[in-house]
Amino acid sequence: MVNGVAVITISDTCFKNNSNDTSGPCLATLAKEVFPNANLHTIIIPDEKEIIERELKYFSNSNIDLILTTGGTGVSPRDVTPEATKAVINREVPAISVALTLESLKKTPMAMLSRSVAGIRDKTLIINFPGSKKAVTECFEVVRPVLSHAISLIKDEQAEVRSMHDSIQSGHVCLHHSSVDMTKVAFRPRESPFPMVEMSEAWKIIDSVMSQWTELLETISIENSLGRVVAQPLHTKEPMPPFPASVKDGYACISSDGAGVRKVRSVLTAGDAPTQPLIPGECVRINTGAALPTGADCVVQVEDTKLVSASDDGETEFEVEIMVAPSSDQDVRPIGFDIPLGAMLVNTGDVLDAASIGLLAGAGYKNVTVKAHPKVALLSTGNELQEPSEKNLRPAHIRDSNKTMLKILLREHGYESIDCGIARDSPAQLTSALATAMQRADVVVCTGGVSMGERDLLKPVLLKDFNATLHFGRVRMKPGKPSTFATCQFEGKIKYIFALPGNPISAYVCCLVFVVRALRASCGLNPEWPRLNVRLAAAVPLDPRPEYARATLRARYDYCDDLPIATLIGNQCSSRLLSACGAGVLLELPARKVAHQELPAGSIVSALVTGSLHLTSTQHES
Ligand code: AMP
Ligand code: MG
Repeated sequence: MVNGVAVITISDTCFKNNSNDTSGPCLATLAKEVFPNANLHTIIIPDEKEIIERELKYFSNSNIDLILTTGGTGVSPRDVTPEATKAVINREVPAISVALTLESLKKTPMAMLSRSVAGIRDKTLIINFPGSKKAVTECFEVVRPVLSHAISLIKDEQAEVRSMHDSIQSGHVCLHHSSVDMTKVAFRPRESPFPMVEMSEAWKIIDSVMSQWTELLETISIENSLGRVVAQPLHTKEPMPPFPASVKDGYACISSDGAGVRKVRSVLTAGDAPTQPLIPGECVRINTGAALPTGADCVVQVEDTKLVSASDDGETEFEVEIMVAPSSDQDVRPIGFDIPLGAMLVNTGDVLDAASIGLLAGAGYKNVTVKAHPKVALLSTGNELQEPSEKNLRPAHIRDSNKTMLKILLREHGYESIDCGIARDSPAQLTSALATAMQRADVVVCTGGVSMGERDLLKPVLLKDFNATLHFGRVRMKPGKPSTFATCQFEGKIKYIFALPGNPISAYVCCLVFVVRALRASCGLNPEWPRLNVRLAAAVPLDPRPEYARATLRARYDYCDDLPIATLIGNQCSSRLLSACGAGVLLELPARKVAHQELPAGSIVSALVTGSLHLTSTQHES
């Protein structure tokens, strides 16, 4: 009896774009023909030895009897499937590789360059197939006659293990789908089956997966373009200023007249169009921003002049004396001084801010073409949740704070979202709520249901009902350990799913460090949060996992380096949303080590600047 078969496509290209994978599906179909009752798992991973080893170990520890890999068996530097396989198997079965090679050599001498390995890890048979669909089909036929028998033999050698597996098999318990079968709660894994990835790896995965996002453009009003990424450069259609403009309040003169008395011919205030050219010996009283008359080439500020004669009522100046000989162009902004005609105002990739939007307004642009944001859907999950608007709380219920908090958090960072409600903790409800969210959005952010309880169904539902690829399902971080990132094909489009833990602080932190990062990456922005070094106001105990602590900053200059001082916001328990209120930064606290159980006051730590800094005081503390 074969419990499970895993087909692993190992290819950088297919990992980046799942639709490139034709060998994996082909191998899966062939495996299904031979083992129609087995649970079939398919994943696509990059040509990374560490990841290949991790997945081989994971499947072989997960009641999987046969692992078929395709890809990465050649001789190019990225081909490391054989090395990874050798590193995890206990016993090699060299004749399988020999048989595959002999068969392939009949078809092409290129088979000499394939280094496929076959072997056994504990009770799992692992066979490497080459990467091409043709080779996979041919090689599968070579091993087809021996597969069932080989697996029986491998399992017969461990009879006790087999009987245990059989009993689990009868309940269809498999680590991937275990919690779907709610009648078999006792058999659910007591340790999460998902490999724990480091933050750096999780980020690498998100950035790589998000590179599949197809950028779309949209044209929007400049009024709504704050923070958006420009997709098409815009140029001036007029020079700025469009006329020679006075920089000062004073007198427009002809510089070659030098110092001395001038006749004040007329007055030009800002907005007046000059009508007559200036002639030698004359000047025009002029205001800042007014256009110079033709003939004038400089402005003498009023402070450098003296009144010579005026009308009795003081309303009209007749003559003034220029005290200091002016130079040509003095206090004049020539045409195009600020921005010449045809100059670029904003370029592709620029992030629009108040000043650049002002520039566009000044240049007469009403609209701007920007990179479209992915549509984001928010979904809360949990039997205990009520909509915040409901007046009375039912027994053992709480109001859903996550959806509102995430909506505003995303908005704070420039992303709008759609409310997809609350899904109950049942596979059917979750499937239907997720399907609706996927219909409405490209990125689905859901909270709750990813931990180890029997009602934590998100991961199995994603795997089983959406055939999702789980890029990670556990991250070495606090809060947010069970954070999950998956993709799946839905109605012909790729969907990105962030399944975050339900505790409000976990959802808050994970939204910042994963979701906002992914959204930034999707529009070609640097996804990294800016980092600052800060000093701790008080000693902080460390956790075995790296921790993101919410803190406020204030300026203080007691230390010679003038670094801001970070104060943690109260009890950092992951249910306590209060600990994020007013947070300017997430401190990146390192994991505890035997020698470092806490960081003393004054320690320097790095901080992600995720909020407004609100440096509250520049005073020395008493
Ligand atoms: P879960 O991740 O589903 O195991 O939930 C962990 C904790 O977060 C539980 O105490 C839940 O009641 C709480 N929780 C889950 N979802 C929400 C939500 N949308 N708003 C507030 N608290 C939640
Ligand atoms: Mg829950």
